[in-house]
Amino acid sequence: MSLTAAAHTVPRRVADLGRDSHVLLIAALAYYLGAEAAFFVGTLSDKIFAPFWPPNIVLFCALLLSPYRRWWLFILAVFPAHVLAEIRVGMGTPQLLVAFATNCAVAAANAATLRRLIGGPPWFGSLRNACLYIAVTAAVVPAIVALGGAFVPIMSAGSAEHYWSFWAQWYLSNAVASLALGPVAIILLSERKRWWRRFQPRHAVEATLLTAGVIAACTVACMASEAAIPRGFLPALAYLPLPFVLWAALRFGAAGAGGAVLLLSANLIWHALNGPSLFLTGDAETSVLALQAVIIGLSIPVLLLGASIDETRHAEATARESEERMALAAVSANVCLWHVDYKSDRFWVTNHGRELLGLRPHDAVSRHAVMSMIHPDDRQGAVAALQAAASAGSLATCEFRIVRPGDGQIRWVRCRARALGNDRGAPAEVSGTFADITEQKATEIELARQRQEIAHRLRVSMLGELSGGLAHELVQPLSAILSNAEAARILLARDPPDLNEVVEALDDIISENNRASDVIHRLRSLLKKSEARFEPADINEIVNSTLRLLHNELITRHVRVGADLAAHPPRVMGDAIQLQQVLLNLILNATDAMDDIAPAHRLITIKTRITDAGQVQLEVSDRGVGLAPACQKRVFQPFFTTKERGLGLGLSLCSAIVKLHGGALTLSNNKAGGGATATFTLPLVNQREAAE
Ligand code: ADP
Repeated sequence: MSLTAAAHTVPRRVADLGRDSHVLLIAALAYYLGAEAAFFVGTLSDKIFAPFWPPNIVLFCALLLSPYRRWWLFILAVFPAHVLAEIRVGMGTPQLLVAFATNCAVAAANAATLRRLIGGPPWFGSLRNACLYIAVTAAVVPAIVALGGAFVPIMSAGSAEHYWSFWAQWYLSNAVASLALGPVAIILLSERKRWWRRFQPRHAVEATLLTAGVIAACTVACMASEAAIPRGFLPALAYLPLPFVLWAALRFGAAGAGGAVLLLSANLIWHALNGPSLFLTGDAETSVLALQAVIIGLSIPVLLLGASIDETRHAEATARESEERMALAAVSANVCLWHVDYKSDRFWVTNHGRELLGLRPHDAVSRHAVMSMIHPDDRQGAVAALQAAASAGSLATCEFRIVRPGDGQIRWVRCRARALGNDRGAPAEVSGTFADITEQKATEIELARQRQEIAHRLRVSMLGELSGGLAHELVQPLSAILSNAEAARILLARDPPDLNEVVEALDDIISENNRASDVIHRLRSLLKKSEARFEPADINEIVNSTLRLLHNELITRHVRVGADLAAHPPRVMGDAIQLQQVLLNLILNATDAMDDIAPAHRLITIKTRITDAGQVQLEVSDRGVGLAPACQKRVFQPFFTTKERGLGLGLSLCSAIVKLHGGALTLSNNKAGGGATATFTLPLVNQREAAE
């Protein structure tokens, strides 16, 4: 240690001394009282050696629960107590010093080893900790230190021949103290606050009954053995206190086990040394040895039982806490947890889930009852999603309506579930969550309604802009009909009338009428305000009908159109009117973008194709001004427009429609030749869907 470090350490140690003085005093007093208690319970024939030696446990506890740097303070503090106690029983100075050295050695070795192996409280919180405690403090450490401790009686005129019997006495008295007093003392000192919090008056009553039971059982066992009980029944008497000891361990865990073992040990030792005793086998020494063996044999399983009980309770409490925490988190997220066992058909759901499903808090619910609550239109989809997830072992997500049994209220539910498949791949157990999305669904439905409304109004305004061209489309067939009708009248007025020509004129009238009604039909469907209807639609057909609709507009604005359409009809599942609206918008935007371009260069190319990924792709390219860099990111924002009379809603609406159809819309500048290209992809409809 450097000089500066030492200079810092000395004042710190003095400060420790001041702060700990009362603790040190308590430790010294406890050490002294422990020795006195040991002498009161009884000493062996040398009047010095006690079969149950608490002072070492006092020092061990002090060292175990304080930092290493304060150990020397405790050792110093208990020394006077040791001297006082041993002088009172007539121990000479050399023995007294050796005894103190071995006491310190066993306490320090126990404390240091346990701190290293267990770390900290709860020292008896698990079976592992209790095993380590027993192995260290009742087996290995006292057995080693007893090699030195055995010299104390030899130094007090004991014979060296009896070294191993002194070793056994020293070892057993320390092992018994570690098992009988150590656990109670450690739990009391390090975990008393936790214990006190849980302690209730009924526990005090139970503990008092247990104490009385142990004392009474020990007394009866010892007294009875004195009386005329047949010899063969004597071992059975040793079991008399056992029910009380086990009761204490089962009810109060390690603390109860430790307390009962302490009470039992002190009682039996006192009886062994002061009689009458169950263990009187001749001389007191031998009886005490037999008794110590019994105490060690009994206390080890009882302490392990107590520790296991604590461990189980702790695990239960942790599981309960985490369950409560999960339930709280689930309620905060408006989610409820559920579990279903297919074998028993039992359905478990959190209270929040019961409220959602309209179930009473304690009603037993079967899986079938819950399935029957699903709206009939959604049931098949929900079952299919769950079964698919079960066979794939993945997470299923589906949305469905629940019709609450009590009030018939409909709630929208988002269900996430994970199934644990049984051997045959069918679900055996399913766990998951329900989230109430009724409000979200209502908002979504309202948004969809508003979007449809806007889409309709935009269509109407778009057609309003096209009205000139459309009127022209109608005027043409109408004037053709008129001229054909006039021609027919003239032909009929001839003598003889040329009926063949009249028939041709009538045929023309019919075909022009069809042309006109075709225009009106297309206009009507675009102007009609109707619910979106998803059905198989041919994108090529939509392109052709849109171009027919825009025929005049494009001619008037000197725009040529080149169509490069997929040979195999690219069919998608969607609403043809909405998709046509998207196309109309893209073509009109392309036309607008070419307003400032020389008419000869105004060209729109429309391409449809089926991609390798099985998607339908549609491109509308123009040779217009293209997108300015600042606009590129904003074109899909509602109300963004660069046109004098633009609304800025077209692209955002088109993007929403394409998204609704499971696709994506992009608009970017062409790599070469100027202009921009709008592209959207949609999932190709498969044959089965089309047939359905
Ligand atoms: P509006 O047509 O009413 O302006 P849109 O949402 O359809 O609304 O278009 C937003 C803006 O995107 C247009 O004002 C224009 O600046 C830009 N834009 C759209 N299509 C093209 C295109 N093909 N070429 C260049 N710019 C385009």
